[in-house]
Amino acid sequence: MLKANDPQLKSWVEVNPQSDFPIQNIPFGIFQKKGGKAVAASRIGNEIIDLNALAQKGYFKDILPTKDFFDIETLNPLLKEKKTVWRKVRNRISELLQIDNKELQKKANHRKAIFHAPSSGKMLMPVKIGDYTDFYASKEHATNVGTMFRDPKNALLPNWLHLPVGYHGRASSIIVSGQNIVRPKGQTRPDPDKAPVFGPSKLLDFEMEMGYIMGQGKKLGNSISTKEASDYIFGLVLFNDWSARDIQKWEYVPLGPFLGKNFASSISPWIVTLDALEPFRIPAQKLEVPILPYLKEKKRRSLDIKLEVQLKAPKGKAHTICNTNFKYMYWTMEQQVAHHTVNGCNIEAGDMMASGTISGPTPDAYGSMMELSWKGTKPIKLPDGSTRKFLQDGDTLIMNGHAEKDGVRIGFGEVKSKILPAK
Ligand code: CA
Repeated sequence: MLKANDPQLKSWVEVNPQSDFPIQNIPFGIFQKKGGKAVAASRIGNEIIDLNALAQKGYFKDILPTKDFFDIETLNPLLKEKKTVWRKVRNRISELLQIDNKELQKKANHRKAIFHAPSSGKMLMPVKIGDYTDFYASKEHATNVGTMFRDPKNALLPNWLHLPVGYHGRASSIIVSGQNIVRPKGQTRPDPDKAPVFGPSKLLDFEMEMGYIMGQGKKLGNSISTKEASDYIFGLVLFNDWSARDIQKWEYVPLGPFLGKNFASSISPWIVTLDALEPFRIPAQKLEVPILPYLKEKKRRSLDIKLEVQLKAPKGKAHTICNTNFKYMYWTMEQQVAHHTVNGCNIEAGDMMASGTISGPTPDAYGSMMELSWKGTKPIKLPDGSTRKFLQDGDTLIMNGHAEKDGVRIGFGEVKSKILPAK
């Protein structure tokens, strides 16, 4: 067990038991105080920890090469390091916060410079994402989509059980929680017997996914095996892959998603390290057909992370519309990374991959409006009496996620975004 993951650890910083950020979490993000500059940050309970101030005051001596290491506006310099460095940094922050450690605890003037209330500023994009790849790794989701759009008898295409299907998306339109989404406009063909039309998307949807941020990187011409893959994954965030289904449906053959997806994706601001999630590893779903050796794993492992989606109508209350779990992924993150690089494709520190919509086996665990309302045939009832087939202007979508075991709850915070009318 990693030192920082010990469920027995207690901190001298007070943490509410329902907090997403106990001492066993120690996530990484970028925080900007009102009127101040952006800094690398971590969090415990309701306190934001300024990692630059911590480094400047010498608390990372012997761990980081310079005192200025965390004087950064994105986490990319940390991501370029190896897992051993990420681990040392997280262990050190944990050590400083432990109840019997007096180093920082007894220095009131240091604490004042290092700790900030979340309300004193805002969270920014944690990384400059170089490349973004979206997978399609939930069998239930792929089956539901295949059933609705093609043929229930052949819902999965022939390649699906043999390789993790994915496509390259747009990195620069990935935004952080709190930023609003402008309804996209585009070309659609609502009537298959008539000419296409142009206008605001009428079928705006979310996709409940998890994103993983890559670290260390590997040069072009090389591959990352399933066994090595977890050394290249820095951590995870919640990921909302906004989708305009009407635009997507008309454009996606033959080259896949384009304007139906690239207008925005939203992420939660705190990157929870793969190390912090290690205690929540569980066996992955059973493979249904034999796979090629490069995708094989000795022990296929997933993560038990509960995921929740809430929809808030303009004047209504937040209402839970989906409860799913990361464990429903058929292809593991390690298999996705191995497949992505088996042809020699390079990986850069700061690249992002997303799992694809995570749908569970029951209808309340479907990870998109399209599935929850079954293509609009089963509208969702909201507490204010209104119904939804897809998202309307003024709606707010909120995603949460956490893992829980042995009295430790590791959470991700939230991804919250409001839909604004088309421009
Ligand atoms: Ca997606």
